[in-house]
Amino acid sequence: MISDFTYLKPGSVKEALQMMADHEEEYKIICGGQSLLILMRQGLVSPEYLIDLKGLNEANYLTYDAKNGLKIGATCTHRAVEKSAVVKKEYPVLVEMEEKLASIQVRNWGTIAGNLAHGDPAGDPAPVLIALGASVKVASAKGERTIALEDFYPDLFETAMETGEIIVEIQVPPRPAKSGTKYQKFNLLDSDMGMVAAAATITLNADGTCKDARIVLGSAAPTVMRAKEAEKVLIGAKFDDAVFEKAGEAAAAECDPSADIHASVEYRRHLVKVLSKRMAKAAWEQAKISG
Ligand SMILES: Cc1cc2nc3c(=O)[nH]c(=O)nc-3n(C[C@H](O)[C@H](O)[C@H](O)COP(=O)(O)OP(=O)(O)OC[C@H]3O[C@@H](n4cnc5c(N)ncnc54)[C@H](O)[C@@H]3O)c2cc1C
Repeated sequence: MISDFTYLKPGSVKEALQMMADHEEEYKIICGGQSLLILMRQGLVSPEYLIDLKGLNEANYLTYDAKNGLKIGATCTHRAVEKSAVVKKEYPVLVEMEEKLASIQVRNWGTIAGNLAHGDPAGDPAPVLIALGASVKVASAKGERTIALEDFYPDLFETAMETGEIIVEIQVPPRPAKSGTKYQKFNLLDSDMGMVAAAATITLNADGTCKDARIVLGSAAPTVMRAKEAEKVLIGAKFDDAVFEKAGEAAAAECDPSADIHASVEYRRHLVKVLSKRMAKAAWEQAKISG
């Protein structure tokens, strides 16, 4: 059962930040409620005040330009990202990821910022956005700061946000030339959370060797993590199945999965190896044909 709370509906981001400053430890932000309401129903979270961002149209935007890249406001839904023509053209991996996230109903109401703020290591957007080099702009009544998304998760279900801060914008830099990004999660039911997930970005030199690599894993450690040893295997290498195999093995060795009712530690490591190998190869193939 959900405990009683006072519902607050700010008329602007500024007003929301002031409400948060006024109620300090006693509030919780709600946006789509697709994750928060489950926690409240289970009695895991019982805020005295719920501050609802949902109606803040000033934060409901998605913009792109070639110099600054993609900017996604706090109240922009998963579905708006999925259906954006510019996202499909510039960052097709984000559309592919959103199409497999939950159901249309959840995507219609839930936000990508709320997903990142929830801090679930099985969440789909974080690995993809880290592979794309994204940051989040957070704000409080005292001001704003920008945090690289790869530094946003200190521990399981924890974020680098302080009390009084919210995510106001997700920022994705323009895609480098000759680069590709791919993502896959492994699950038994389509659109379910991944048992393990891997995202890869590969950027190529003019001679076709790997200039830069990012391998990012979901559900493979207490937080979403970069597989830096696997990245080292790829950087400087030529396209070669033996290299992808070695990168997959490195990722499996450096991840830190736990066992649960879905999978053992050993099975998750196996999935990390297979998905990292496949995504590195797929991203490389996309980079070869990209402008
Ligand atoms: C049936 C179902 C299936 C799902 N399947 C998947 C799946 O396959 N993959 C996946 O990744 N996710 C899945 N989810 C989770 C869901 O996609 C997201 O976590 C959800 O969209 C979060 O957005 P929201 O706006 O609903 O956030 P809310 O539930 O309103 O908030 C979530 C958390 O973030 C905080 N918060 C919200 N907005 C902000 C902000 N701007 N700044 C700071 N804090 C904020 C809240 O205080 C709360 O702690 C599923 C959810 C459901 C109900």
